[in-house]
Amino acid sequence: MTTTPAHDATASASHSARADGVLEKTPLERYVPPAKPSLVGLSRAALADALAGIGVSAGQRRMRVQQIWNWLYVRGAEHFADMTSLSKELRGLLDRHFTLARPEVVAEQVSSDGTRKWLLRLPGEHAGERPHEVECVYIPETDRATLCISSQVGCTLNCRFCHTGTQRLVRNLTAGEIVGQVMVARDRLGDWPHRAAAPGPSEGARLVTNVVMMGMGEPLYNFEAVRDALLVVADGEGLAISKRKITLSTSGVVPMIARAGAEIGVMLAVSLHAVNDELRNELVPLNRKYPIAQLLEACRNYPGLTNARRITFEYVMLKGVNDSLKDAKALVKLLKGIPAKINLIPFNPWPGATYECSDWEQIEKFSEFIFNAGYSSPVRTPRGRDILAACGQLKSVTEKLSARERMTLRAMALTD
Ligand code: SAH
Ligand code: SF4
Repeated sequence: MTTTPAHDATASASHSARADGVLEKTPLERYVPPAKPSLVGLSRAALADALAGIGVSAGQRRMRVQQIWNWLYVRGAEHFADMTSLSKELRGLLDRHFTLARPEVVAEQVSSDGTRKWLLRLPGEHAGERPHEVECVYIPETDRATLCISSQVGCTLNCRFCHTGTQRLVRNLTAGEIVGQVMVARDRLGDWPHRAAAPGPSEGARLVTNVVMMGMGEPLYNFEAVRDALLVVADGEGLAISKRKITLSTSGVVPMIARAGAEIGVMLAVSLHAVNDELRNELVPLNRKYPIAQLLEACRNYPGLTNARRITFEYVMLKGVNDSLKDAKALVKLLKGIPAKINLIPFNPWPGATYECSDWEQIEKFSEFIFNAGYSSPVRTPRGRDILAACGQLKSVTEKLSARERMTLRAMALTD
């Protein structure tokens, strides 16, 4: 095995190749900021620096940051002209240097079950070349509404059962592009109750209540941008989605789990999917680098774990691969002592996938075993299959599906 440079926030582009398959991919592109950058996603400190850069005096900055923050994240302002508590002069100055741009929505699809998927366009590195696209999915339920957001175009890793994993990693998203997904959802849903004349919900009845970082990409391989973005999303004087309602899902980048706990502090979900290293090496190739024992040790040390604040272990149900009662038993044994929830995910098939979803009967048996062992084990029902929005099916049209593939997927959605 070739050695891989340790991953840290700045080395997320590192990669290693193995004779039997690439473990981690190198981004093909970098983000090139536009001449007029967007203020969306900047931390308060970075926003103050941006204001300093255009000559706002030190004495004024704190108050201006507070005002802009409120306009942007409480009222959803899309233009500086809307920020009526700022002087006309400052509005003009801001407008000459910055924008409030969110990622551009190129398509919106609404599933028969209410799930919405937005296809977002992000600029490529080279002017004039085809831009990139990522997806962002909104899943309303009776007691909550969850927004599933992406952290990368494509993915650093290549889990065998994941459609996104078959894509090359094109580039990391910036913090602005990550926060921008939440902004887009609130824009499209009219979820800005403080915006004058907004038709949206009254205060207390928000349309986006939870955020999960379970879209495209491995968030812990884009650590700094994800951290900065989630801290903006959780800010109580802004978008105000509390850290308990934000979940970051990782395939198990062990060295970054402690940092995620210390520097972000959101809820953690771990894509476990197998109870022994042999199988996990195959399903989640990153396991060869960070095997199960190391992963679970990092989970045990995740700060703030209590019975009310548990780690979610995701387990995709693959027919004849990891779905026996022996696996269920081993799973319970493995997680002993960790405040855990187990999330069984029926496998979402995609064209070319070599796995099948476990039979429903088997999923129920597995789930019952786990339940009897004391775990709540909700089975995550696939949502939005008719618009290709379910877990592991997020794949940008950077690599376009053929018409036939789309039809196959639709047929699959209709037949199950
Ligand atoms: N990269 C992160 C987050 C994105 S994937 C991670 O791997 O955790 C979000 C979840 O969807 C993960 O648990 C992933 O394993 C699961 N998933 C991927 N492909 C899937 C598929 N085809 N069917 C069901 N779940 C899938
Ligand atoms: Fe990447 Fe997660 Fe898919 Fe694995 S499951 S390839 S880490 S998006």
